[in-house]
Formats: sequence, C-alpha cells, structure tokens
Amino acid sequence: MKREILCHCHLVTPGVEIADAAVGIENGVIVEVEAGTPSWALGGRDLEGRLVMPGFIDVHCHGRNNVDFSDGSAEAVRIIAENKLAEGVTTLLPTTLTLPEADLAAALGAVAAYDGKTGCRIPGVHLEGPFINPKCVGAQNPAFVRLPDIAEVDRLNKIFPVKKVTFAVETEGGNALVGELLKRGIVPSCTHSAATAAEFLTAYGRGLRNLSHFCNQMTPLHHRDIGLVGSGLLYGDVNVEFICDKLHISPEMIKLVFKVKGAGRVMLITDAMRAAGMPEGEYTLGGLPVHVGADGAARLTSNGALAGSTLQLNFALKNIVEITGLALGEAVKSSSLTAAASLGWTKLGRIEPGCFADLVVLDPDYSVRMTIVDGEIRYTRG
Ligand code: FE
Repeated sequence: MKREILCHCHLVTPGVEIADAAVGIENGVIVEVEAGTPSWALGGRDLEGRLVMPGFIDVHCHGRNNVDFSDGSAEAVRIIAENKLAEGVTTLLPTTLTLPEADLAAALGAVAAYDGKTGCRIPGVHLEGPFINPKCVGAQNPAFVRLPDIAEVDRLNKIFPVKKVTFAVETEGGNALVGELLKRGIVPSCTHSAATAAEFLTAYGRGLRNLSHFCNQMTPLHHRDIGLVGSGLLYGDVNVEFICDKLHISPEMIKLVFKVKGAGRVMLITDAMRAAGMPEGEYTLGGLPVHVGADGAARLTSNGALAGSTLQLNFALKNIVEITGLALGEAVKSSSLTAAASLGWTKLGRIEPGCFADLVVLDPDYSVRMTIVDGEIRYTRG
C-alpha cells in the first residue's frame, strides 16, 4: 500500500479553511482529514503551515513552454503536462484550435500517447472550434471555420475522449449540436459567438449551461439585448470559464462576475498559448504570428487581438483573491470545484475522504511549492 501523510497544512477546501490540519492519503485516495496533528499524523511530512488546496483544474489550455497541443506532437503533450504542475494544475483538458480535421486528429492522437504518469491528469480534450461564428474568430484562423458537424466530433472522440466543445450556438445546426453533445456526455459550451439573448435562451432550453472564456469573443451586455454576457450573469446555473489575467478582463469586471455569480459558477482558466512559462518575444498561435510583450500580453501581430494568454493558474487565483477579497474557502471553488462539477467529476475539487489525492501546496505569495497527483508528489520546487 502507498501511504502519504501531510501535517501542519493550512488547509483550504470549498467552504472550509483550517489553519493547522493533517491529511492522510492511501493508494491515491484521501482517507483522513483532521484538524491539528492527530496520532495517525505524527511523523508525517511537515508542510510548515503552507497553504494546501485541491489541485487546480484547467479546462482551457492550448500550450506552454514553447509547445502547443495543436503541434500534434506526443513530446509536446508530455512537456505541457509536466510543466503545468509548476502552476499547481493537476487536471488538464488540452484545448485545440480551429484547424483542419486531420490536424485535430493528429493533436488528439498525440494526447492519446501520453501515459499520464509524470505530469497532470488528462482525462480528455476540449475542442475550441472549429464550429464558431466567422465574425467572432478572435485569434482563431478563419480559414478553417466550418458549420457544426457531430460526425466530426464522433470521429475525433474515437481517437481520445472529447469532454467539452466550444462553438457558436447561433450557427446553422448549432442548437442541434447542443443536444447531440449532451447525449454523448460531452459538455457543450458557447463562445466565439454573436448569439443574441434570445438565441442563447433557445440553446439554454436544449441544455446549454456553459460559456467559454466569459466576456471574450461573445456578445456584450446591451440594455435592449443582454447578449451572452448578460445571459451568463442572469441565469444562475450557467458555468463560466474566466481568464483572470487582468488583460482579458478588467478588475472591475472580475469583481462584478464573482459578485453576481459566486465562485461556485466561475471556473478559472488560463487559455494559455505556447508562450506561457517563456520570455517575451515572437511566437505563433494556430500558425498566426503572435507578439508577447513585457506585460505578458500575447497579441496577433496582424491586428493586435489578444491571442490566448501567458497566465498560470496559481496567479489567476492570486488575482481573484486580491481583487474580490473572497475568503480562500470560497475562492478555491473557482480554481477546481466548479470545473470538476461542470464535467461531472465528483472525486476532484475537494480535500475530503474518498476524493482523489490531487493537491497543491503554495507559499504565501501563491508560488507553487509542491504538486501531488494521485497521491504522488510529482513536482517540488527547491
Ligand atoms: Fe478562444
């Protein structure tokens, strides 16, 4: 039996914060959580009062360390999966771009080749596009935008499980796609969309409950048509991905969204591209040239549009705590539990007996000290 005991943890799990606690782990599963240092925890690994939180879940990430999932390289997948541990991510949905089907198939094939033993968990992929609105491409390549086609999703899903598809509900066949995805247990999510509030409501009626990178590349709130932004705020059971790098979203909007929706409906994402974890300079996204400036903003060289981010999830959490003033027990819902719940993963996002032992240990400045996946310490900073 593999056993790990953590003691002197400043434990934070949804709704709970304990300044000094112990966690017992057996065979990758949390078996004990108790305040203080009970007898079973004596001699455990002393975390010296550091923050211990549920491992972060990033459901929207394209790349890191100068590689991208859309490169279609198994080595790229391993590099990203291992380096995401340094930002505390324990579960990741590799996210593809609007590309030809053959390129998407190659990307999923590369993910399928990852053995999951050295980096974070990769339970499936997130297809961002190609079924988006050609008027809202952002940094996606317009040459490869196409209409919703469930047969394409089925073909890709055979290569590696598709867990989430981001598309525009107002496109021809968009509403039908909501139902087809739900039948297959895949989460439909809308963005890169010009949907009106009425078009959103039709999709909502079919079961749509997710919006990807909320506020970015979607219809803004107007007082005669509240669009996707207003609809996401209005409907309490809609989960929203949120890029809290203070570049994609202003601090005031971060405050507003957390105030209206609560952390239990917001999931922090990075939407990171290959420049995450790299210095400023020249990169590409989906074949399009991108410049990354000193402020970390990744922008298309052609038109200055934001092209993914260089955000790391531990700093997204730091940003929202500083901006909203939320208690840590609330804030951590948005770094793991909301994403886990939106995908039906009941054993992730909490530090409780019976849950998978995926944990992150943070210093007071939110830099990651240790990352544990499946009860194994897979990352330690010196
Ligand atoms: Fe996008």
